Amino acid sequence: MYAAKNLGRNRYSYFTLYMQEAAQTRMRLTSDLRTALSHEQLFVVYQPIVELASGDIHKAEALVRWQHPTRGLVSPADFIPIAEETGLIVDIGQFVFEEAAKTVKIWRELYHPQFQISINKSPVQFYDMHENHANWFDYLASLDMPGQSITIEITEGLLMDASNNIIDKLLAFRDAGMQVSLDDFGTGYSSLSYLKKFDIDYLKIDQSFVRNLTAESEDFALCEAIIVMAHKLNIKVIAEGVETISQRDLLLAAGCDYAQGFLFSRPVKSDEFEKLLKAVR
Ligand code: C2E
Ligand code: MG
Ligand code: MG
Ligand code: MG
Repeated sequence: MYAAKNLGRNRYSYFTLYMQEAAQTRMRLTSDLRTALSHEQLFVVYQPIVELASGDIHKAEALVRWQHPTRGLVSPADFIPIAEETGLIVDIGQFVFEEAAKTVKIWRELYHPQFQISINKSPVQFYDMHENHANWFDYLASLDMPGQSITIEITEGLLMDASNNIIDKLLAFRDAGMQVSLDDFGTGYSSLSYLKKFDIDYLKIDQSFVRNLTAESEDFALCEAIIVMAHKLNIKVIAEGVETISQRDLLLAAGCDYAQGFLFSRPVKSDEFEKLLKAVR
């Protein structure tokens, strides 16, 4: 190994040690995650998706959180990949869905009859043979909630190699009235043919396009173009990661329909979200 030799013996062994530690942490997290659900360490937070023209809030994204007994709050970036590798994402996904469905029922009754919560659905959940989407429909029916109360967020990767099985699952969700949102748009293999083929309802512009948004930036030109194209295809646009008033104003000027980001609120627990809803009403 040319590179390792160049680094010298000591640096090479530090590197090995670092790798071993990282692998051990991962193994521990994996076994901890297996018990996280039954030990009630997982919970769901909600981030408002704000209608830009009116400032109204009638949508939110559900995001899972893990309160680890010794490590504290573990980021989804660190445990979702583990959940996907181990298949635990199916049970976690079911938990998030049920929590979100119960919450949307309350918010529809108390705040907005059309309130909608979006849920991230990993490709692994679509590939899994045991994942039964009928569970979701039955659960909604048991709450007397229509499919329209839920949006599913998928990523471009899923559509790229969508088999008939996956297309059938997506169609079943659509038939149940749920909407479909394309998350992190622009970061994957954005093929415009997907938008035509899969009947997408919402496009979420990835936060990497929003981060450095100024009137003169290329990112702004891209956002404008995405919005015009989406609207022609009857798709609504949600901008992710909006942190400043100037980003919001630019997106509003470009005709963006919705925005989500720390400017409006971080993802919060449902009781805190309800305070937010009361404040805008
Ligand atoms: P995502 O679906 O793209 O979710 C948006 C992420 O951006 C969230 O990170 C959110 O907290 C963060 N965010 C929101 N506004 C801002 C902002 O203004 N600035 C910045 N810098 N970040 C902002 P989070 O909650 O850490 O989740 C990360 C990813 O983990 C999600 O990305 C999603 O892919 C995955 N994830 C989270 N919850 C679930 C879940 O229940 N199921 C599945 N399958 N994946 C999930
Ligand atoms: Mg998402
Ligand atoms: Mg996203
Ligand atoms: Mg993202």
